[in-house]
Amino acid sequence: MKDSNIAVFDIGGTWFRSGVYIKGSDLAELSKAPAYNYKNTPYDKVVELQLKLVDYLVEQVQSYQSKGIDIQGASISMGAALNGHTGEILNSGPLWGPECEPFDLLEQLQKRMPEINWLVINDVSAALLRHVNDPEYQKAKRVNLITVSSGIACRTYDQKGHYVPLNKDGIQGEIGHIPIHFSLFGEIITEDCDCGGANHLNAFVSGRGITKILRRLLNSKTSPISDTHLFNKLQNLEETELNKAFFDVLNEDDPEAVKVLDQVTFPIAEMIINTFTIDAEVEKVIMTGGVVHAAEDRYMKSLLVNLEKIGLYQTTDQTAFFKDAVRLGVNDDNSGLLGAAIAFENKER
Ligand SMILES: [Zn+2]
Repeated sequence: MKDSNIAVFDIGGTWFRSGVYIKGSDLAELSKAPAYNYKNTPYDKVVELQLKLVDYLVEQVQSYQSKGIDIQGASISMGAALNGHTGEILNSGPLWGPECEPFDLLEQLQKRMPEINWLVINDVSAALLRHVNDPEYQKAKRVNLITVSSGIACRTYDQKGHYVPLNKDGIQGEIGHIPIHFSLFGEIITEDCDCGGANHLNAFVSGRGITKILRRLLNSKTSPISDTHLFNKLQNLEETELNKAFFDVLNEDDPEAVKVLDQVTFPIAEMIINTFTIDAEVEKVIMTGGVVHAAEDRYMKSLLVNLEKIGLYQTTDQTAFFKDAVRLGVNDDNSGLLGAAIAFENKER
């Protein structure tokens, strides 16, 4: 079983990716298809969309088999909140919309193709697993990954146990929904999260949160960015254009854009300090996600400035410590597929 080919999937709200992981080699048979999501696929009940995903997964495995590829296992990285113990999908807004109901994906797959050994994991866990065998993380006792994109979440991996610890509900690391006191240039502001909660981390410093911050700065008469190059570049733009324009200006090293970035990396720096303080076995934190990769070195520099500003109690040479411990992750389309493959191998140990 351990040496077999594994069908691997990366299921997001926009794309379904698939491939075959050949142990000791690499990914093969890579393909990508538009997701069956609630916006592009007609349906009466959400379960119809959910069953279309099951069809897709089963048909892909069958197509590999029809090419003579011996598939014993299949591992799926799901862009959804799920119970990591059972594989039950709790919620996937981008895929199944606001009326999304829980769906037991693993059970459905086991019913349709019982001869295949199926595994379903969360996409943040997959992104983390994609990194854990890289030489710079292999020696760390525990590795944490934070993703900052349309939402924010993190996961911690235990290298010795080869697992992502979960609570009794199969959850870990949903930091995006922790309420915070967010200060924008010294003024405490409030915002609602997409989940309906008040002042969650997501509401301020995720991709969507940053759009709201930019709009607020443009609308304020006393804004610290008034009459600046950044203000002029952003002032007549639609909501959907703000983030890209902001990152374009930031990547020119515009000083006002850097100041705005420092506001939105501060709460992430606080989360990292909490992580290092509470779990001393976390020796590396990997930063990834669309927001991080939109600015890469500039995002990391801003994070470092804020980490040093907050500080880690009784730690000598903070600059060296944070530089070594907080790293930029790999940004490639195959992270989900590779992470799903590593999760399967870990399960088989
Ligand atoms: Zn929330």
